[in-house]
Amino acid sequence: MAFRPEGRWPCFPSVLTKSFAYLHSRSVALSSCPECREEISDTAWNCPHCGWHKSWAGLVAAWIVAIAVIGLAVLFYWQIKQADEAHAKFRKELDKSEAMIKALKPYS
Ligand SMILES: [Zn+2]
Repeated sequence: MAFRPEGRWPCFPSVLTKSFAYLHSRSVALSSCPECREEISDTAWNCPHCGWHKSWAGLVAAWIVAIAVIGLAVLFYWQIKQADEAHAKFRKELDKSEAMIKALKPYS
């Protein structure tokens, strides 16, 4: 089944529709089984010809990357929150000393 967006979106520039068609063809691409060299779908978890199972290593690596990204985002957010709190504290101290200076001005 080919992806033909030209019929649906005639205003689309052909370079875009060609890119979409390329990506779509890539997403349903066939690759060869490393065991029996028969063609299998990229999305298949095992080979229908010889029963070879796709390794879990790729999936585990993807999960590790995803967890690392989420962890970094949380760390980044926490750091910003800490900096905000420190800034608020500093601002309060500054306001206090400014008020003190203002109160002492008539005596100087
Ligand atoms: Zn196979």
